[in-house]
Amino acid sequence: MRIVRSIPELRVALKTYRDAGQSIGFVPTMGFLHEGHAALIRQSTARCDTTVVSVFVNPAQFGPGEDLAKYPRDLERDQNLCLRLGVGTLFIPEPAEIYPTGFATSIHVGPMGDVLCGQFRPGHFRGVATVVTKLFNLVQPDLAFFGQKDLQQTAVIRRVVKDLNLPVDILVVPTVREADGLALSSRNAYLAPAQRQLALGISRGLFAAEKLFISGERDAGKLVAMARSGLEGMDEIQYCEAVDPLTVDPVAGAITRPAALCVAVVIGGTRLIDNLLLSPSGENTQFISHQEPQG
Ligand code: AMP
Repeated sequence: MRIVRSIPELRVALKTYRDAGQSIGFVPTMGFLHEGHAALIRQSTARCDTTVVSVFVNPAQFGPGEDLAKYPRDLERDQNLCLRLGVGTLFIPEPAEIYPTGFATSIHVGPMGDVLCGQFRPGHFRGVATVVTKLFNLVQPDLAFFGQKDLQQTAVIRRVVKDLNLPVDILVVPTVREADGLALSSRNAYLAPAQRQLALGISRGLFAAEKLFISGERDAGKLVAMARSGLEGMDEIQYCEAVDPLTVDPVAGAITRPAALCVAVVIGGTRLIDNLLLSPSGENTQFISHQEPQG
């Protein structure tokens, strides 16, 4: 595995693969890697000749007062995990490499970036879209892998790729959870045991809503109310909504097409998000299915 820190080094490293006609898979991350990231990397190594992982805590997607400075980091562990998973290139740039002095251009995300998380994190998706587009231009991957855990992010990135004709296919990998249901997240490291216990209500509510859906309930309001029932006692419920997973437009009334129940809460200063897909006829065309072999 090659570890590269600068853009010229990255270009040299990737030219070898490109000249040999090899396909490149890309997994952008902010590091402090866990099994959720590993699932994305496994999908990439299974589908592409070589895999590039980036570890970059992107300042542009953090708002004032958010956790940029204390975002958890463990580069040595990240390197070891990437090595074990067969990553070909690990790109670890410093902020100045990505945002040199004078940097001024950013990608304005349409209304999709202003709802759900965007309401509570103004400018977040502009920061995400800008850095992901830069990383796509640097890596020029054939396939890029994102987690369903950040559902709105996948919708925004698909929109950017389509609108800007970026030559990359986006694959979305199902959320990896702890045995008790909690969605894996680097931010779970902030949770004290009692807070973690409380956080279990997020997935408990979502799974209860899924059960209701499977038993035949189709009313979005009733399903959202069931998901919300798990959120009692949390410091803040930022949203609990049913949306179209591709456009993040709200879904009201009967669910007749795939919908996602999306939740964001704050527990003891830690912001947590999760979501679950509800698919009336079992179709799940835009997402890698859970049943698919994991490489
Ligand atoms: P992050 O490092 O949090 O920016 O995440 C990097 C990528 O990993 C994003 O595409 C996330 O959606 C994905 N990811 C994070 N947590 C999970 C999870 N629990 N399951 C699947 N993918 C995840």
